[in-house]
Amino acid sequence: MKQDNCIFCKIANGDIPSRTVYEDADFRAILDLGPATEGHTLILPKEHAANLYEMPDELAAKVLPVAKKVAALLKDRLGCAGLNLVQNNGELAGQTVMHFHLHLIPRYENDGQTILWKPTEPGADELDAVLKKLS
Ligand code: AMP
Ligand code: ZN
Repeated sequence: MKQDNCIFCKIANGDIPSRTVYEDADFRAILDLGPATEGHTLILPKEHAANLYEMPDELAAKVLPVAKKVAALLKDRLGCAGLNLVQNNGELAGQTVMHFHLHLIPRYENDGQTILWKPTEPGADELDAVLKKLS
């Protein structure tokens, strides 16, 4: 289902033009308007889901094969040396558009980007406590 006030629903379904690099029955992959690097692409499902939690399993299972196709295209045509997949869920995690999207960020030598986190050093007890919560 499309959501009337969702810009990515409109883009994914072709109601708003976009720089489309790949399209199939379920997804459209577009160039990000504020790219981190050359070729920064977003994979958008045509069906609205705000985030990963809301994605039907059947649709979620189709995302990675699409990412593989687009990743191959980016490597082949742009010659990127690496690639980051990023997918933000929730404002706290940096999500600004509340329609699921997977970022493909090609990486180049000296591209000036740092898509990394700062590791912490929990003790074994802390890790065990987390494991207990998840078990
Ligand atoms: P996120 O912060 O994960 O929600 O990412 C949203 C991304 O969408 C950002 O990288 C924006 O640059 C990009 N973006 C927002 N609006 C558009 C648009 N109309 N077309 C293409 N990319 C967009
Ligand atoms: Zn939407």
